[in-house]
Amino acid sequence: MVNLITFVILLISSISYAKSPSDSLKKLTENIYGVFGVPQQVNSENRGFISNAYFYISNKYVVVFDALSSYELGKELISAIRSVSDKPIKYLIITHYHTDHFYGIQAFKEINATTIAHKWAYEYLSDPYATQFFKSRKKVLGKHLKGTKIIPPDIAIDSEAIINLETEVIEVKQVCKGHTKGDIIIYIPKENALVVGDLIFDERVPFLGSGNSKSWIKCIDEIIKLKPKLVLPGHGNILSGQENIINKANFTKQYILDLRNIIKRWIDEFGYDVDYVKNNIVKAMIEKNPKYKNVKLFETVTRTNAYYIYFEIEKELFMEP
Ligand SMILES: [Zn+2]
Repeated sequence: MVNLITFVILLISSISYAKSPSDSLKKLTENIYGVFGVPQQVNSENRGFISNAYFYISNKYVVVFDALSSYELGKELISAIRSVSDKPIKYLIITHYHTDHFYGIQAFKEINATTIAHKWAYEYLSDPYATQFFKSRKKVLGKHLKGTKIIPPDIAIDSEAIINLETEVIEVKQVCKGHTKGDIIIYIPKENALVVGDLIFDERVPFLGSGNSKSWIKCIDEIIKLKPKLVLPGHGNILSGQENIINKANFTKQYILDLRNIIKRWIDEFGYDVDYVKNNIVKAMIEKNPKYKNVKLFETVTRTNAYYIYFEIEKELFMEP
């Protein structure tokens, strides 16, 4: 009996928990593949494998989108790519300089891939916060962060760029300041697919702590206008089919709007009280839309988001004439 229970537990954990990029590798279209991190916060058991990365195999080259959370995971991502293609890995494009998307960059430097990101990467890396964050990640991940270097991209783009893959091009652009001050999206015309980083999710709430929630809303509208048939987010499931993409994009947008409207209303009604906001926001959001309750990491992320949005709105109100 004990053995049976152990077996069942092992079975459950092996289904729900992808230990490595290779474990989670999925073919998404003829030439696009993805690896999918777990829907958790970073801890030593998941080794920081909490985000997604994708790669596109063109006629001549492989292009990779995001580098995962460590040198170790970056190397494992390269192994996953090598299991399906031996074409040169020419470019690594990083959607934004958050630890779970760029810490694997050194693995790609070692194989001479050209790394590309938005120029905000330089601003991020020159801020002492980047070093502090690295130290706190090291406390959590320990040996799993071995070999990880926080380094800038080879090429930094401002608003847009065309990447020439010789037999075709892909497009990189910043549609707005949203999740960070330097999010870029990547459009692959041949597949009508869009890599969106952390700007849109399926059944997850966005993290609003380091960008601009007001312009993020416009960002989502811009993405919808591009009419992709496949959206590849930095966390969670991929989104496919135009109608489904619009619905999911609008869910992310509505979450941001609801959060902003509730906090604005409270500021109007009771003045500035960040503790009230933090303590009551989860309940108020669920009252607004009960579906939020079922979204992964909703409570933790929403409390943190409310804190940041409170200060963002406070700043907006002070700046208004
Ligand atoms: Zn992020």
